[in-house]
Amino acid sequence: MHQDIDRILITQEQLQEKVSEMGKQLAAEYHRHTPIFVGALNGSAIFMADLTRACPIPLALDFMAVSSYGSATRSSGVVRILKDLDRNIEDRHVLIVEDIVDTGLTLSYLIDHLSARHPASIKVCALLDKHERRTTDVRLDYVGFPIPDEFVVGYGLDYNDLYRNLPYIGVLKPHLYAG
Ligand code: 5GP
Repeated sequence: MHQDIDRILITQEQLQEKVSEMGKQLAAEYHRHTPIFVGALNGSAIFMADLTRACPIPLALDFMAVSSYGSATRSSGVVRILKDLDRNIEDRHVLIVEDIVDTGLTLSYLIDHLSARHPASIKVCALLDKHERRTTDVRLDYVGFPIPDEFVVGYGLDYNDLYRNLPYIGVLKPHLYAG
């Protein structure tokens, strides 16, 4: 285990098993629709790569890059779009792929932003759900793991741009970000 990690919350094997299950579920739901999976960079890149490969149906992939103002460990909900979608989503079935939903403010912004373009449907697939912290009423259609209110890294999630390449989800040692 990496020296900055306090403990592993979700192992590599648990991630593989869950992502493969979610991919099959999405394939069953979307096989007639050629959906567009929309990931929020950078956090969802690794989840997206594994999820789409576990979902053996025709689908398109697109990414948005958003930056939310706030401290390094808490988002403020004020979101700035750094990269928008490359394709038109009108009348398409959109699945937002999120690494983690915390307060829900970023996701709520994304849903509003994409809804304005009149897709046929919008659903949300989140790997991690920190439900205790939710301050907005957003619906998660597919959830990998509910997790407690702790700051986690790995499998795409960073702290100061590090730890994204850890193959598991771990709790960062609090002294590394508390000060
Ligand atoms: P929300 O807008 O739902 O409060 O925050 C969502 C964003 O905050 C996530 O996309 C992620 O960038 C960041 N975030 C929230 N909780 C965590 C966490 O435990 N670890 C990491 N690395 N980022 C988090």
